[in-house]
Amino acid sequence: MPYEHKPYLLILIAPSGGGKSTICDEVLSRYKEFVYSISFTTRKVRGDEKDGVDYFFLDKAEFLKKRQAGVFIESALVHGKWYGTSKEFIADQLAKGNNIILDIDVHGALNILDSGVECVSVFLLPPTQEVLRKRLEKRGTDDQATIELRMENAAREIALIKRFDYLVINDDLNAAVSDIEKIIRAEKLRVERYKEIKENYYRSENA
Ligand code: 5GP
Repeated sequence: MPYEHKPYLLILIAPSGGGKSTICDEVLSRYKEFVYSISFTTRKVRGDEKDGVDYFFLDKAEFLKKRQAGVFIESALVHGKWYGTSKEFIADQLAKGNNIILDIDVHGALNILDSGVECVSVFLLPPTQEVLRKRLEKRGTDDQATIELRMENAAREIALIKRFDYLVINDDLNAAVSDIEKIIRAEKLRVERYKEIKENYYRSENA
């Protein structure tokens, strides 16, 4: 009988353009015990994004109503739009024993860390600010003013990096995914992640 593990939240924090969504997809395809937390947002649909898959898209009034009703475990204004994580989804998935990946901004991440939920936080940093700018420009989804805003926000986010557990420099995508895999493996071996160690150790083979 395998030793069971206590589930946790894997929080990926990165300036936008940091390659987070690709990394999330890789982790989800390789580790079946992870589920993705789909956030709510008031920002507009981008490219081929789908409602209920990439985000739950809603207008500001609906968002603020939910926020008021305590639907979110955390919510934040990011680049002038609201984003929030469902409290119910997190509680349900943890109760089922699933680990959850969250792709959220620095402030949301800090709020979750302070909420006392079991988490592991990973900051994904592009190697330099020039690389970040090029990635945002190449993405082609933001106008120049938005890119400038995202660059300024990135500078503010980097200032808070010391609050998080791990730093992965996202130069090469495969290398970054491989670093995250190592984090996941190491986290699985933490004593505090195991359930009922003694009970398992002393169990009778014949029971
Ligand atoms: P984007 O609009 O580029 O998808 O995301 C913009 C920023 O909002 C990213 O840093 C992303 O991680 C963050 N974000 C996405 N969902 C949430 C959420 O539920 N809560 C918070 N606090 N930030 C989020």
